Amino acid sequence: MSELITKTATEIAALVASGEASAVEVTRAHLDRISAVEERVHAFLHVDTEGALAAARSVDERRAAGEELGPLAGVPVAVKDVLTTKGVPTTVGSKILEGWRPPYDATIVQRLRAAGTVMLGKTNMDEFAMGSSTEYSAYGPSHNPWDLDRIPGGSGGGSAAAVAAYEAPLAIGSDTGGSIRQPGAVTGTVGAKPTYGGTSRYGLVAFSSSLDTPGPCARTVLDAALLHAAIGGHDPRDSTSIPQPVPDVVAAARLGATGDLTGVKLGVVTEFTGEGAEPGVMAAFRESVDALAKLGAEIVEVSCPHFRYALPAYYLIAPSECSSNLARFDGVRFGLRVGDDGNRSLEEVMSLTREAGFGPEVKRRIMLGTYALSSGYYDAYYGQAQKVRTLITRDFTAAFERVDALISPTTPFVAFPIGARTADPYQMYLADLFTIPTNLYGGPGISVPCGLSDGLPVGLQIMAPTMADDRMYRVAAALESTVGTFTPPAL
Ligand code: GLN
Repeated sequence: MSELITKTATEIAALVASGEASAVEVTRAHLDRISAVEERVHAFLHVDTEGALAAARSVDERRAAGEELGPLAGVPVAVKDVLTTKGVPTTVGSKILEGWRPPYDATIVQRLRAAGTVMLGKTNMDEFAMGSSTEYSAYGPSHNPWDLDRIPGGSGGGSAAAVAAYEAPLAIGSDTGGSIRQPGAVTGTVGAKPTYGGTSRYGLVAFSSSLDTPGPCARTVLDAALLHAAIGGHDPRDSTSIPQPVPDVVAAARLGATGDLTGVKLGVVTEFTGEGAEPGVMAAFRESVDALAKLGAEIVEVSCPHFRYALPAYYLIAPSECSSNLARFDGVRFGLRVGDDGNRSLEEVMSLTREAGFGPEVKRRIMLGTYALSSGYYDAYYGQAQKVRTLITRDFTAAFERVDALISPTTPFVAFPIGARTADPYQMYLADLFTIPTNLYGGPGISVPCGLSDGLPVGLQIMAPTMADDRMYRVAAALESTVGTFTPPAL
């Protein structure tokens, strides 16, 4: 095993910039690691060996020509299969897009290329990003490097598993209700959901457009910040993109790493400290709160009374938007087409294609959403959920008048055994109990490893006001400076 794979992105970029390692060497080391562990981890749906080596060669050539390289040049990155990649298969974890090679790159992917990062491939995910374990992937689950019989979280479990298993120092995820932060928490890695609109959705296959937010996965807070800075910022091709620069998250991570939180006021969300979370998770969380206080932070309790309605509101809003977004998978324009034998009507072909192409959880969401939007029920379900969303936003606004950031455990429970929660959808939905409010509000949230419970990682979540992403990086880096990083057993 090459020691290059255990380096952080920051270290790799420095090695490449100084010429101590070539981007090709770094890339080969990671491709070798992927070959060695993928059979057990299954983090990837597609490994782009040739594309990765070509990108690495180009970085080495540019360096040899004396070109100025960016802060992540030569660093490998794994991309969740929810983002379109030109000529490289993009399935969204679904059979309905099997074999589809998009004709264009998502903005995030374009920016990754422009930054000189090396895309290793596409990572596994729950179908259409609906799930919390990757068990709803049409291509089989990913495995948690901490315990291969357990889930790596979801929907972006492949990205988190790849980072935790040293297959990639960085990865991209997307967070609609927790799909970057929850996999981060259960794999002992850092996962950040930027402010909604702070990272482009152009080329992100839509699940719930008012919530979907791409963001970084990494093994350290500084690495996550560097990736966030590289992919973030205004994109004219996304109408909900915020026309402002990303706050200086890298400077904030460096400031936090000094371990001084004097003058920072943090609110522990009262509603997320009682029932619902495993005792081991709460114990690790409480210890971390004490650690943050020791660094100088002032800790207060903050009640956000409407957070308890976030989960039901989310499971009306997200399915409603998905029922509309997924109408485009009709067997005509993309991927799979079933039953087109010349004798069937267009409607029959569409119906057969969708029946065969979508898995059970996706169908459940489409049905829930279609019902919530139907004329007789619209006000009672979708309309009510939107009102709850407003109340949750008001809870956040009121809280941020008192504190700089809110904190809670990221997830109620540590990584569970594969198969433990698939029988009852509600048990799966509970994984995002603490992450969903942030999505409904639109602010940024980060999960940073804070301890272990029975030998499995626990994450602490930091939630900040919209466009104050830098604040959460400062607190996260400060916590990391005292609790350290967490390494899974050797694979
Ligand atoms: N687990 C949540 C869901 O199933 C969140 C998914 C996500 O963030 N993409 O909808």
